[in-house]
Amino acid sequence: MLVMSAIRTVSGKQVLKKNSGPYVTHHQILIVGGGSAGISVAASLRKKLKHSDIAIIDPAKDHFYQPLWTLAGVGLVEKEETHRRMEDVIPDDVVFIHDAVTGFQPDEKLVITRNGELFSYEYLIVAPGIQIDWDAIPGLSDAIGTNGICSVYSYRYVDYVNECVQNLNRGTALFTQPNTKFKCGGAPQKIMYMASDTWRRKGVLNNIDVHFTSGGSIIFGVPEVAEALKAPIERYGIKTHFLHNLKEVKPDDKIAVYDIYKDGEVVDQKEMKFDMLHVTPPMSAPDFVRNSPIADAEGWVEVHKHTLQHVRYPDIFSLGDAGSTPNAKTGAAVRKQTKVVVSNIVSLINRGKLDPNMSYDGYGSCPLLTGYGKLILAEFDYDNNMTPSFPVNQAKERWSMYVLKKEVLPRLYWHGMLKGRA
Ligand SMILES: Cc1cc2nc3c(=O)[nH]c(=O)nc-3n(C[C@H](O)[C@H](O)[C@H](O)COP(=O)(O)OP(=O)(O)OC[C@H]3O[C@@H](n4cnc5c(N)ncnc54)[C@H](O)[C@@H]3O)c2cc1C
Repeated sequence: MLVMSAIRTVSGKQVLKKNSGPYVTHHQILIVGGGSAGISVAASLRKKLKHSDIAIIDPAKDHFYQPLWTLAGVGLVEKEETHRRMEDVIPDDVVFIHDAVTGFQPDEKLVITRNGELFSYEYLIVAPGIQIDWDAIPGLSDAIGTNGICSVYSYRYVDYVNECVQNLNRGTALFTQPNTKFKCGGAPQKIMYMASDTWRRKGVLNNIDVHFTSGGSIIFGVPEVAEALKAPIERYGIKTHFLHNLKEVKPDDKIAVYDIYKDGEVVDQKEMKFDMLHVTPPMSAPDFVRNSPIADAEGWVEVHKHTLQHVRYPDIFSLGDAGSTPNAKTGAAVRKQTKVVVSNIVSLINRGKLDPNMSYDGYGSCPLLTGYGKLILAEFDYDNNMTPSFPVNQAKERWSMYVLKKEVLPRLYWHGMLKGRA
């Protein structure tokens, strides 16, 4: 790995911008974001294009395997297992630019950073993930981590989720799901089922009212999976409330306020008392993408849903949670998308055209933890058709799939995906 401090690059070429503007540092392939998508795609490109010049820009010092946060939230894994230092996951011979991108000038093939640097590229891969809008819920950002208000959507609060679960012996537990797009469609439920099973095993579940409050209208988009989820919901006595979108948190009174929707309109408001409130916060496209020429009307990087190439700028690709493709935003999707982006860029460099054999079908996967040793592995495509990887009925709670999630997939991630091998 080559660590670069702003413009004093080791492998990037510096050129003076036309009209005597500031220096621009050039890289053949520039990647915005060193998360699951950015690192996977860099590692794979590095293997396929031996003499390429690849750089990743990311302001973070840390990299996380987020899918284990639902298990860490009930103490089944240590949260530290999900963490690596960014410099330890940047592939060899890839330049790491420790800075944040703040803007895009795609007509000039330039990106701008917070430190005021300009970078040019032949190919740009945009993968900065999804933005978590903690501040969109009044009362939430100040109160999270206190008063029984917790979330597995942040490394910082994962241990507090476990503390809340372990300390609750009676009362009301609310688990929210927003009506925005969000990453891992199953996580708001996974933590609820795992918490409920923890309470069942302790013998206190009968004293706890568990409520799933969702801004959506259904429990899960794939009908077979929705049917299978009736089992854990019944087992733990969970009460479901759809079209209930968390609007405000009153931490001192321990009250969650919901907007109630009908036909797309807010028709009512409701207050619910809680002893524990697990929040899946609203999310959106990152502001610096939304406010740029590469965004679609909703703010996501506007790419073709099968090629992942930008619809207006053919030298730009996007994958992961920031892309406009209408798939479930998951790391599993990233794994499939990586192959498409890498093949297309390699093909463009070597043959001047996209790889005609590569097409992303919307694959996403959601390993739905439903209890200790129980998991429904939902795998599906753009049309919510089930696309099972194993020759078993996956729409069923299985111990084998739980082992896959807890033991196998993390190894596949660190040693396969992030090394360009999966
Ligand atoms: C609780 C939880 C449970 C999950 N469970 C699962 C699961 O079971 N299975 C599954 O497949 N997926 C799961 N996911 C989803 C999965 O983690 C994400 O879909 C995946 O990480 C997306 O990869 P990404 O690279 O797009 O974004 P990320 O991995 O989030 O990385 C984005 C990167 O971009 C960087 N960045 C941000 N802003 C800028 C900027 N301005 N300039 C440069 N870089 C920037 C960030 O610092 C970060 O390093 C889960 C997620 C959570 C939170």
